[in-house]
Amino acid sequence: MRIKTSHIRIVILIALLVVVISDFFYIKYLEKKINNTNIFSCESDSLIVLSSSDFKKPVYAFTADFIDTFYRYESPFKEKIEFDELIKKYIRNRWADHYGCVRGTREKKRIHEGIDLYVPENTPVFPLSNFGIVTEVSDNPHYMVLVECEKPGGIIDSVKIEYGKTVRILYPEGIASIYTHLNEVFVEINQKVDKNTVVGLTGLTGNIRNSGKPSHLHLELRDSKNRSFDPRNRLRFNQISAEYFLQHISIDTK
Ligand SMILES: [Zn+2]
Repeated sequence: MRIKTSHIRIVILIALLVVVISDFFYIKYLEKKINNTNIFSCESDSLIVLSSSDFKKPVYAFTADFIDTFYRYESPFKEKIEFDELIKKYIRNRWADHYGCVRGTREKKRIHEGIDLYVPENTPVFPLSNFGIVTEVSDNPHYMVLVECEKPGGIIDSVKIEYGKTVRILYPEGIASIYTHLNEVFVEINQKVDKNTVVGLTGLTGNIRNSGKPSHLHLELRDSKNRSFDPRNRLRFNQISAEYFLQHISIDTK
């Protein structure tokens, strides 16, 4: 059976169409990938952070030298004191203002996921380490955040809590600090910050306005899976240890 010329033409046309269409989608896919990727580099190229634009899936690549230089957490008030000393100095009530104390109602029980540091209103707040990226900002004094709570019978649910003006900063190890109840916010989303950046001023926004509590900084630390933890547990590591971070970092390559 002879193949007609018209058949060959149709086959070539279909093949061309397939190439053009797949090319179109491949270019779209690449564009999307590029748009969703932010690349940050730091001094002497020792750190590169690639992160999707929503910062939900960050990727970290850094050298041991970088960790040794930048692993240290400082006081959010730019003081040269250890975190334990900071907690002793600023926590007003030994139990109620620590991490993990029970909050909320019997119907919606939750834990205090940060520590409350009592300082005068409008005290400047700084990042905890010398390199960070601002990943969440709200200049809204009534800003709400969804937090986990427990209903009677052990049912896990979530409840909205008014955090007020809020800033979240992501650090190289994948740890984030959250500052809430701020009166003023001076940073923008995606901004690179260091120890000299004034993040904002402590204040009275959010649910503490009518609580009778004085102005304080609510400080939360969260790991790369967005789980809060007691700052004292993490910041007890005073020795320089690149190995420690290399062992504990979770590198998410997707
Ligand atoms: Zn608090």
